[in-house]
Formats: sequence, structure tokens, C-alpha cells
Amino acid sequence: DLDIAERTARLLGSRVSPRTVHAVDGVDLSIGKGEVVGLVGESGCGKSTLGRVVAGLLPPSEGKIRFRGKDVAGLKGAEARDAALKVQLVFQDPMSSLNPRSRVDEIVGEAPRVHRLVPRGELNGYVDGVLERVGLDPSTRKRYPHQFSGGQRARIGIARALAVNPDFIVCDESVAALDVSIQAQILNLFMRLREELSLTYLFISHDLGVVEHISDRIAVMYLGRIVEEGEAQSLFSVPNHPYTQALLAEVPTFETRRRAYSPVKGEIPSPLDPPPGCHFHPRCPHAFERCRAERPALKAVAPGRMSACHLNDRA
Ligand code: SF4
Ligand code: MG
Repeated sequence: DLDIAERTARLLGSRVSPRTVHAVDGVDLSIGKGEVVGLVGESGCGKSTLGRVVAGLLPPSEGKIRFRGKDVAGLKGAEARDAALKVQLVFQDPMSSLNPRSRVDEIVGEAPRVHRLVPRGELNGYVDGVLERVGLDPSTRKRYPHQFSGGQRARIGIARALAVNPDFIVCDESVAALDVSIQAQILNLFMRLREELSLTYLFISHDLGVVEHISDRIAVMYLGRIVEEGEAQSLFSVPNHPYTQALLAEVPTFETRRRAYSPVKGEIPSPLDPPPGCHFHPRCPHAFERCRAERPALKAVAPGRMSACHLNDRA
């Protein structure tokens, strides 16, 4: 399949409440087939909103989502359904996203049954295969979510997403609620599944330690804008943007990584009323006059690296 699975989100804001909050503002992000892109930033920066828009759960108020080169808003009927199923979201908290009154086989088998992806008589065997693929014993198929451990529930959430045979998975803080050792197991599972099924991921996390291991490319988000983007290893070793530098200086430790926290000095301003110019200027140690007045554009600062900081224009 030479078709490039590319989903481009060019968003100029998303309606997330009766009042239009530009939780995501002018983001342009392309993800190539088979790529893992890590989307990082502090809580409340718009990562989840962007993830929901990419996964088709939230329409962009302006702009386009393209999948395999086609604008998804223009798709109809079976083509629209297929595009929707090909992109799946794995949620942050499996306990709140799994129906406590549904058995595992119902949870995993529901979408294939509703969308008739598998002949009726083959559904049980199909569900068992999906459970095995994520490391769950098929003999547990009649159990309910509360009868599983946190790590197993994470696997159930992944199995539900995989059951419709997606190409692209948006993981929103999918391991944040887990103990560190279980996190590592689930991240390894994501990586194995990527190999086995040629999956593409947008991996959303506030935890740089989580995305570092699995991402080919990293996009750093601050108050609804991508401020830096580049190849993962080089971005970690030579961060360009002062916000990325601040995040990396505070890579969370064991004790802090499970909390929603604000590692960079100063409060995150309200997304309802973001500071003018560079949104980061009130917290930036390098801010100068221009930063308060003019929005820095995201532009190439090195091969494969984009950054939105006026410092790059200074000699
Ligand atoms: Fe700091 Fe100015 Fe760069 Fe923004 S544009 S990150 S305020 S130096
Ligand atoms: Mg979030």
C-alpha cells in the first residue's frame, strides 16, 4: 500500500465550550505513515483538544483534516466510515472509558459487530485473537473491567481500538495513570504493535520521559500553539525553544511524573486570554521587547527542525 497515511491538522481554533476557546490555534502538523509523533506540553496546553480533532471526535472550527491526502470533511458514506474507523483514540483513563457493565468480549467486539467488520459466526474467535495480540488471556473474555488490574485495563482499551483494524492511533496520556513499571510494559506493547501492524501514532503526554523512548518526532505545544518540532533525539539533545529547554530542565522524577503538574516556573496563563506576542513571554527568561508585541512564526531553524522564537532572528 503506497498510499501515504497522512493526516494534516491545520486548525485555527476548536469549539470546546459555548464560548469559542482557541484551545488549538493555527497548528499545522503532518504525520507520515508508520511514524510516531510525540506531542508534549503541560496540562491545559491544548494537546488533548488537538488529539480529539485529529481523531475526528471534535470538528475544527476552521481548517482541514486530511487523511491519505483527502479532506475528511468531504468524505461520504462508506468512505467516511472507513476513514473514521482507521483513526482510533486510546484514552487516558481506561477505568472511566470502559463501560463497567460490559464484559471484555462485548467491549472489544462491539465496534466490529456494529460495523459488520467480521462475519457473525467468527466474532468470538476474532475477539480472542485481538485479546491475545495485546497480551490478555482469551479465557478472561467474560469478565468485567473492575476484575482486571490497571495495566490489564490499559490493554483492554488498546484491544478495543485495535478491533477495528486502525492505521492510526491517537494515544492521549494512555499510560499516565499507571505505575512506572507497568507504563514500560504498555509502551513496549505499543511499540510491538506498531511493528506488527504498521501503525502510526500520535502520542500525547505531559511526560517527556514517556515520549522520548517511543517517538521519531516530537512536537512541543504551549497554549494552543506548536512552538517546536523536530526529530526526537536531536530535539532532546539540542532544544531550540526556551519553553522546550525549560521542560527538559525539569524532566519529572518518579514521584512527580504521575501528577498533573507545572514544571516550568510561573503559572500557565488562561487559554481564554493568552498573552499577546509570544504566548510564552511572561515566563521566558530571554524575553525582549519584540516578544511582547509580535507572534513568532514556526519556521525552520535547522534541517528537520522548526521553532517559533524571535531569538532565532538575532545574529
Ligand atoms: Fe522567549 Fe521571546 Fe523566544 Fe518567546 S519569542 S520564547 S518570549 S525569546
Ligand atoms: Mg489532557
